[in-house]
Amino acid sequence: MKPGFEAVIGLEVHVQLLTCSKMFCGCANVFGAPPNTLTCPVCLGLPGALPVLNGAAVRMAIQLGLALGAEIREESRFYRKQYFYPDLPKGYQITQGPVALVEGGHLEIPSDSAVRGREGPIPIRIERAHLEEDAGKSHHDRSDAHSLVDLNRAGVPLLEVVGAPDLRSPQEASDYLKALHRLVTFLGICDGNMEEGSFRCDANVSVRPAGTMTLGSRVEVKNLNSFRHVRQALDHEIGRHIQILESGGAILQETRGWDAEKAQTWSQRTKEAAMDYRFFPEPDLPLLTLAPGDRAEALAAMPELPWDRQRRLAAQHGLTDYEAGMLLQNPAFADFFEALALGCGNGKQAANWLLGEVSRALNERGTTLSGLGLGVPALAELIRLVEVGTLNLSTAKEVVFPALLAGTESPARFVEEQGLAQVSDLGAIERLVREVFAVHPEPLAQWKAGNPKLRGFLVGQVMKAGQGRMNPQRVNEVIDAIAAE
Ligand code: ADP
Ligand code: MG
Ligand code: ZN
Repeated sequence: MKPGFEAVIGLEVHVQLLTCSKMFCGCANVFGAPPNTLTCPVCLGLPGALPVLNGAAVRMAIQLGLALGAEIREESRFYRKQYFYPDLPKGYQITQGPVALVEGGHLEIPSDSAVRGREGPIPIRIERAHLEEDAGKSHHDRSDAHSLVDLNRAGVPLLEVVGAPDLRSPQEASDYLKALHRLVTFLGICDGNMEEGSFRCDANVSVRPAGTMTLGSRVEVKNLNSFRHVRQALDHEIGRHIQILESGGAILQETRGWDAEKAQTWSQRTKEAAMDYRFFPEPDLPLLTLAPGDRAEALAAMPELPWDRQRRLAAQHGLTDYEAGMLLQNPAFADFFEALALGCGNGKQAANWLLGEVSRALNERGTTLSGLGLGVPALAELIRLVEVGTLNLSTAKEVVFPALLAGTESPARFVEEQGLAQVSDLGAIERLVREVFAVHPEPLAQWKAGNPKLRGFLVGQVMKAGQGRMNPQRVNEVIDAIAAE
């Protein structure tokens, strides 16, 4: 950030809820079906069709509210937000009005060292989270002559989480978005797939002279669909604001789009052109009134929260906070870790393997754990083989692990068939050490004369001669013993 200026950022995040059916009808809520196959009179907005609220969406909203420490409103109402657009056949979107089901609360983010005077963790306030329905999707690239509309998404339940303008840098904005993404995926209320649009973000940003309190006029950048785009778009926008302010200009309150290819924002509409949505209470839906047991039921069905789980994993398995955080990169990864730790009996080793070899394989192949096809029992067995000394670590990593990835199911049988078992037999190791000493008298003499580097060379030669199967600890002991003769 340029000295003398401060950025102020608030995010509005659309969380697509993982319900079976849509918000107000029985149509399936799934991504990727053939266009316009998941529709009915209600989500098509045909005359006379009546909406019925999806109870699962309400329960999920309550869960997020409880996790954020927010107030869950006993009563809230749905409104019609009216505008014309081809992907909105009803002519209005049903959304919550001035009073939302979830209000207040906060989400913690780590501090950004680039922002002065911020020491973490920082609570970012949530203004509210309200339920609404999604619109359909226009496709402008599937036909030369026409735009096509797919209404499968029309009526899919969304939870819009409106954050307070408490963020002070693009990094903080991205950290906040990651924290929210982690929360909704671990709650199991959203699949978090940003490419498919299940988790989308609009970023509001303004710039003001450092040390002042009044908010500058803001720009809203629409539809940022990755953490990187959020950082890049905000960086660009903050730079643009500062340039305008420094040259004596004023910031126009407007809505802008992000062009990822050109790496710049572009004006979509200004405040003057803002629409009047003519909000009015939805006459076809009753007041949303919570029943006495609703909150307790939502709480009872709630999984462990990610920050609690991170703390527990660190304490239970003697991991650093950083390692535990890495294991929580997504729910499947965390579940795999816990099963592996249980299976091999050593959480620290399970973490080392997952954050080491397994993560490397995932990056190299650009896939997910399920795509890797690695079974918990096989990897647990491999870790145990190393633990009990049957296999040395380098053979495990370099030979057996790749075999598991290629489909080998039993590491123990593989090790036996391939003759990979570690040799700890002192007689065999001693023979090998004497052979290596005989072949390399010069390095031996130099080591004995006080050059410790040559000891490493000799160990390496013994390991090589033993095809990597010798127990390294034994080799070290035997080398020292024979050299001292
Ligand atoms: P709307 O988008 O409907 O006008 P609000 O005015 O409540 O709604 O603001 C929406 C978002 O804009 C919130 O996330 C809020 O934090 C953020 N915001 C509001 N004012 C500013 C500002 N001056 N600078 C940056 N963000 C802001
Ligand atoms: Mg807005
Ligand atoms: Zn429908």
